[in-house]
Amino acid sequence: MSTNLRIPGPTPCPPDVLAAAAGEMINHRGPEFAELQERLTAGIQPFFGTDQEILLITASGTGAMEAAIVNTLSVGDKALCVTVGSFGDRFGTIAERYGADVTRSDIEWGEAATPELVAELIQQDEYDALLITHNETSTGVTNSIGKIAAAVREVADPLIIVDAVSSLGSIEMRMDDWGLDAVVTASQKGWLSPPGLAMAALSERGWAAAKTSTMPSFYFDLTTHHEYAERGQPPWTPALPTMYAMDAALPMLIAEGPEAIYARHHRFASWTRSAAKALGLELLADERYASDTVTAIKVPEGMTGSAVTKRLREDHDVVIAGGQGKLAASIWRIGHLGYLDEGEFAACFSALQQALVAEGFSAAEGAVIPGIDG
Ligand SMILES: *Cc1c(COP(=O)(O)O)cnc(C)c1O
Repeated sequence: MSTNLRIPGPTPCPPDVLAAAAGEMINHRGPEFAELQERLTAGIQPFFGTDQEILLITASGTGAMEAAIVNTLSVGDKALCVTVGSFGDRFGTIAERYGADVTRSDIEWGEAATPELVAELIQQDEYDALLITHNETSTGVTNSIGKIAAAVREVADPLIIVDAVSSLGSIEMRMDDWGLDAVVTASQKGWLSPPGLAMAALSERGWAAAKTSTMPSFYFDLTTHHEYAERGQPPWTPALPTMYAMDAALPMLIAEGPEAIYARHHRFASWTRSAAKALGLELLADERYASDTVTAIKVPEGMTGSAVTKRLREDHDVVIAGGQGKLAASIWRIGHLGYLDEGEFAACFSALQQALVAEGFSAAEGAVIPGIDG
């Protein structure tokens, strides 16, 4: 049996996807590549909820975040970075590094950004852009991006730049309806695929901003990506194996359909939360904004989080994540995005119970873990 990988990315891939990734290389300036690119972008587009072009970038998610920043902002632009965790912090740091004038609003980790608060903050200066995370993987919190964008648009008109790396393809995204200007994601989260391919889309306003942007960019220049894409080519040598994998994964996602996919993620998320509670554990995020792709669980007082993850890994071949940044030692995180197998989850919860008991957490002893539908 292979390792039961329950981290929030990279996520396990279906066998057919892994087999596809092993395919022979092709000429990325030839007709087969043009067809591959066409299939991928057409398949990805509905999940973004946009009529705009989907740009394929060879990078991890951070590369796409950087692309979103350097193409839409200019040096000295005022950006409000509303951050609810470490990925939100990273967004602000990228913008600062490239010369934006960033104001950070740090929301307590484990909490969500509310539409009211963001609307209030955006009025405190003449902001050119709002940087915000859709699903904060470090805390297991989903921001209601649609509602936040609507509240912001009522009072101001910044570019709205969204990190949807760990939500897109797993949680609903309606880029055009919500009026978002840049949205990015990456293959190794909800897309049943290995790392290596990032995806981005810009709104018309986003493209207009790209025309006048004074931030330096080369590799991540989306105008260059767009010009090449028109000819059916990537600007630089692409991660072909990851693209082959996506080419095998997308038909699976399309056959299931976005609504069913979102419902499936919600079921597994609810199950994970119920299992954690049944084991006597507390969740970091309130159920109202708890993520459907990753659950953060508090390490009980007096326990060492890493002792449990070590036991899971060594005794059960189950891999879960610890926290990041200031929550490094105080939470565990279980990923439930992408390829979700009921048996693997049941095994993960049962292993967690045994590891907790072995570490002296008596509340988990004899606990009955519910099945997927309660
Ligand atoms: C995974 C992730 C990223 C990007 O991380 P990479 O390691 O660069 O792929 C960015 N934002 C969020 C919310 C993520 O979950």
